[in-house]
Amino acid sequence: MYGPTYLPRKFKIAFAFPGDNCTDIYGNDIGIVPLFRDSRPDRFVLMVGGGMGKSHGKPDTFPRLADPFATVSADDLLAVVEAIVGIQRDFGERHDRKHARLKYLVEYWGLGDFRRAVERRLGHRLASAEPVDWETSEDHLGWHAQPDGRWFYGLPIENGRISDTPRVALRSGIRAVVERLGVGVHLTPSQSLLLVDVPVDRRREVETVLGGHGIPTPEAVPVVIRRSMACVALPTCGLALTDAERALPRVIRRLHRALDQLGVADDAPTVRMSGCPNGCSRPYNAEIGLVGRRAGRYDVHVGGSHLGTRLNSVLAENVPEEELVEVLVPALTRWRDHRLPGERFGDFWSRDRR
Ligand code: SF4
Repeated sequence: MYGPTYLPRKFKIAFAFPGDNCTDIYGNDIGIVPLFRDSRPDRFVLMVGGGMGKSHGKPDTFPRLADPFATVSADDLLAVVEAIVGIQRDFGERHDRKHARLKYLVEYWGLGDFRRAVERRLGHRLASAEPVDWETSEDHLGWHAQPDGRWFYGLPIENGRISDTPRVALRSGIRAVVERLGVGVHLTPSQSLLLVDVPVDRRREVETVLGGHGIPTPEAVPVVIRRSMACVALPTCGLALTDAERALPRVIRRLHRALDQLGVADDAPTVRMSGCPNGCSRPYNAEIGLVGRRAGRYDVHVGGSHLGTRLNSVLAENVPEEELVEVLVPALTRWRDHRLPGERFGDFWSRDRR
């Protein structure tokens, strides 16, 4: 399919199980949700045109959530995906890198024209996207049964960094579990790690090895840390304007203390920090997004959905790292005082602004 030209830029495809948006499919060029009949994937709902990046000071660049696009049969799935990718290959922007993602093609053509272009390539009409309901986007932390009788263990990795420190031998502990038990390792889109294929009678051994290396159980990690992530930013990324992975541990612990004082630590929002507006940690649909502006300063976004289905908006710009929590506390206090039972911070903020 690439031919001599490849695609204009990267192209992301995510699958999500119905009800479970832990892969954040609306932030991808194509999102695919299987619908089941008799326990087998029978048809697929496709979303198109998602992407997170934007540039400061360039309003013609923007984050965008994927639109529900079509429901397709299992037999037709590959052909439809191929048609979509082919349209991006042939019509995607190639001169201006900042507009080279599928989301701009979908936005500028409109979903109707985009659909007709896909249908022309396929030679038949597409059925509308069936509605998809989401119940959670939580990572699968702790113990979960696999269909084959074995188990997997989800381990939160703060900002995705696996290394040994004087207090927690995270890298050595994971290595020890993998070497001793021969388990598999999966990485999640929210920077957690799944140790898979654990026999039921060896679960205790996994806990003992991890605990022996000082690695806390998921339950022992504050909720706001479990639900947060940062991109690598400085010093690893050449595009970074400021820190993210190195700054968020400070910010998130201050935020945890503030949430604890407000009495809402167990309902903590999702928090994502990026070192520049490219948004690799997907800050724009988080309940709280912190986007690097320049050295030590961030734009504060609030009001995204914890399910990944709504973009947030700017609360404050160019905020020094030390003042980020201070800026957020009034909004969090208002949520604490006026939320509906069980209402998440992002949902409250969105409702309250209407
Ligand atoms: S969002 Fe982070 S990782 Fe992505 S380009 Fe910017 S600084 Fe680099």
